[in-house]
Amino acid sequence: MVRRKRVNPVGRLGVRYGRRVRLRIAAAEAGLRQKHICQSCGFKAVTRVSVGIWNCRKCDFTFTGAAYSPTSEVGEAVKRLIRRTAERVDLPSLSE
Ligand SMILES: [Zn+2]
Repeated sequence: MVRRKRVNPVGRLGVRYGRRVRLRIAAAEAGLRQKHICQSCGFKAVTRVSVGIWNCRKCDFTFTGAAYSPTSEVGEAVKRLIRRTAERVDLPSLSE
């Protein structure tokens, strides 16, 4: 049996699906497996529980985020928009 060298995380896919799709899968899976910084306690202990659900193993803070990472560009943009709108209409900020 030929022992195959594992080239990258998506090496299991072989030549299928196209290069760009494989690169996107690699990027998503990299964010999925590494630990992320907790927005509550600051420790690097956030792991994914389920799609979009993230939990800090240090302080047990559970929050929603993007599917493959705790935050996404769109999520950050929406957060900014909500903050600016709250400031404009003089409502208490949602982050407090
Ligand atoms: Zn935490």
